[in-house]
Amino acid sequence: MLKESFLSYLECGLCGKRYDPDRLWNLCLECGKPLLARYDLEAAKKVVRPQDLVNREPTLWRYRELLPVRNDAHKLSLGEGFTPLLRASRLEKEVGHAPIFIKDEGLNPTGSFKARGLCLAVSRALELDVKSLSIPSAGNAACALSAYAALAGLEAHVYLPSDVPKPFVNECRVLGARVHLVDGLITDCGQAARADLEKYGRFDVSTLKEPYRIEGKKTMGYEIAEQMDWKLPDVIIYPTGGGTGLVGMWKAFDEMEKLGWIGSRRPRLVTVQSDGCAPMVKAFHEGREFAEPWPEARTIADGLRVPAAVGDFLILRVLRESQGTAVAVPDREIVEATYLLGKTTGVWTAPEGGATLAALLHLKKSGWVRAGESVILFNTGSGAKYSHVWD
Ligand SMILES: *Cc1c(COP(=O)(O)O)cnc(C)c1O
Repeated sequence: MLKESFLSYLECGLCGKRYDPDRLWNLCLECGKPLLARYDLEAAKKVVRPQDLVNREPTLWRYRELLPVRNDAHKLSLGEGFTPLLRASRLEKEVGHAPIFIKDEGLNPTGSFKARGLCLAVSRALELDVKSLSIPSAGNAACALSAYAALAGLEAHVYLPSDVPKPFVNECRVLGARVHLVDGLITDCGQAARADLEKYGRFDVSTLKEPYRIEGKKTMGYEIAEQMDWKLPDVIIYPTGGGTGLVGMWKAFDEMEKLGWIGSRRPRLVTVQSDGCAPMVKAFHEGREFAEPWPEARTIADGLRVPAAVGDFLILRVLRESQGTAVAVPDREIVEATYLLGKTTGVWTAPEGGATLAALLHLKKSGWVRAGESVILFNTGSGAKYSHVWD
């Protein structure tokens, strides 16, 4: 029988303590930091090569050997992943830089790349016999959890700020989730969700507080490599909240090098945040290992309204190892850039996606991005649920 997953153990991202991968875990019991999935890449290397992927299904499950789900029956799919990498030729002319690519994650189920992470988290929860799931969310993660829980037949409890735009709440309800509205920010939602976890025996799938959402998001790194014929770009600009996508892609690059699929050259990774909530940008430029919570976080880009991230040290480590940087942009520039992207590319991005173009304009002006360097802008979600921003 073909081995379906080469998952071998879980490891704390800070202290390195190892855990049995076939039991349920949240954070490291020693230091409270995120656990990361490790694979037997030596063995995987012998059975899967890049050319074997060509005829596989156009979803993230095409990388199944490097994903944690062991049994086919538990691999949930709504068609997530393998999103297009678009060449933005008219945008290139408009801003005077080429080549620019857009990775359009807005085409995922429920309209954002959160589908990748929750697809894996719910699949694995199903495999490990969880019955009820819980998540605090600014919106998109709640929608994605609702969808995969519906597909799996599991109970989903989503905790959203009471001022979350209506389309997010409607979507969760239609998809069968129990919606809990909480006065305050996502951090307050986290607190409310935590209080109910033990009481009702639910499993917490908050960002980086369980080991598998990042495994779903790392597939963006595999896809970029595959779509660019196993040559990575010079620069990737990524709108960062909890940072799972950024940390996940970096993890994918390391795995692919160990598999012999790519060489040692890496893109420079850039975090972009709104100047109304920029804890990672501040910590990066101050040279810190951990970030301080951002007071009174405010931005129209809801996915970036994350005042404190559990994986802060992982994000900062990746930015430094990749010789990347971090940029804060005002909301006004985010909206302007979203309109510019829209009219030159045909992609209606979430404001988070627009933020990446705003950052590119700054980095080009300062000379950090040099002429001719290939740049990927990550559009992490569709603009369709953000009517309040475009009204
Ligand atoms: C959640 C979210 C982000 C932030 O993603 P992280 O990987 O947690 O940093 C960015 N954009 C959108 C649209 C989101 O929903």
